[in-house]
Amino acid sequence: MRRLAARLGKRLKASRAMLVTAESCTGGWVAQAVTAVAGSSDWFERGFVTYSNDAKRELLGVRADTLARRGAVLKDLASVETLGSTSAINSDKTGTLTEGRFGVTDIVPLDGRTEHDVLRLAAALESRSEHPIAAGIVRAATERGAQYPAPYEFAAIPGKGAQGTVDGVAVKVVSPGFLKEHGLAVVDARVTRLAEQGKTVVYVLAEGKVIGAIALADIIRPESREALGRLKAMGIKPIMLTGDSAAVARWVAGELGLDDYFAEVLPDQKAAKIEEVKRRGLTVAMVGDGVNDAPALVAADVGIAIGAGTDVAIEAADIVLVRSDPRDVPAIVQLARATYRKMVQNLWWATGYNAVAIPLAAGVLARAGILLSPAVGAVLMSVSTVVVALNAQLLGRGRRTASGVS
Ligand code: ADP
Ligand code: MG
Repeated sequence: MRRLAARLGKRLKASRAMLVTAESCTGGWVAQAVTAVAGSSDWFERGFVTYSNDAKRELLGVRADTLARRGAVLKDLASVETLGSTSAINSDKTGTLTEGRFGVTDIVPLDGRTEHDVLRLAAALESRSEHPIAAGIVRAATERGAQYPAPYEFAAIPGKGAQGTVDGVAVKVVSPGFLKEHGLAVVDARVTRLAEQGKTVVYVLAEGKVIGAIALADIIRPESREALGRLKAMGIKPIMLTGDSAAVARWVAGELGLDDYFAEVLPDQKAAKIEEVKRRGLTVAMVGDGVNDAPALVAADVGIAIGAGTDVAIEAADIVLVRSDPRDVPAIVQLARATYRKMVQNLWWATGYNAVAIPLAAGVLARAGILLSPAVGAVLMSVSTVVVALNAQLLGRGRRTASGVS
């Protein structure tokens, strides 16, 4: 029996499909164990709340402010298991590791233009964009009292910039990558220096000509360094994924002590990068907030939306972390690991208990004078549920007092 159970336990660890099979064999005991664990107060105590798959639909209707009060939402119970075995975590840069609030630090006019001219045209165009860079440019123009008209024929260039018509002039605000692609690369010592300082540089084009560069700085969240350090200590490889330039990515990676990153990744390439990391044999989680991150959130083994992200990111993720605190990521991984250990333990309790109690109730030892009346059997059945639930309650306590909970 022990051998059989040991084998069952091992295979359980290996596959979730086995959980389902075991569940049908044990008459729903596994389901009970899983529910008892995942629904244990520990998740609530820590400000996390769990939902079953059935509640997914309801969840998506929950308003952001309700979620914000609760911290995190688990949309898929199965993701707890995957999260516990995650070996690499890909994280979006802007809005996840950084605050995603850009401020304009420098304007470099080119082609005989003035700073005011460059900022005015850029702000006019960006007033229609929802990108955090756009918000920074518009704020700078407002602060400097620049008046700008509304743009016509506005269109976003995903992962690269925006374009439109301002006062009859075709205007673009684009990434250095876009310039390179179109053979327009600008060599200017001032701009190079700004990029080396880790600033995000965008270029302003009028009628296809570069008329200036705008440098913006984002703030690295102070919590990011701690979050990444904790992940590393847990044996998880942190990787940064960004659409920003290699210079900015290198600077941020240096600040955060990250040894692996992908820069200048276009929105439609983010998912491919996740697949690339998966092919290294790693179980991959993706953390992101933007519309751009949605395909990567889906492609990852576990998708985590952070910072009350965009609706699209929330829809695509398995787990939603509402507080914009990257430290919630190692916290939920730790909780997932402990939860999974509990799940296996509870399966042992439930299966072992029933292996003894059911034959007893069926009268196997009747000849030896041991016979359970149906009433006692019913009581014992409930005791089993209580044992599983109590064990689940020990989740938090066990971890606090001893690391030896296996
Ligand atoms: P991230 O992956 O860091 O969130 P995005 O994919 O949103 O970045 O954008 C990548 C790059 O595209 C930006 O760093 C910027 O150079 C350029 N970009 C995108 N949208 C805009 C915009 N509205 N205005 C200026 N630049 C933009
Ligand atoms: Mg982002």
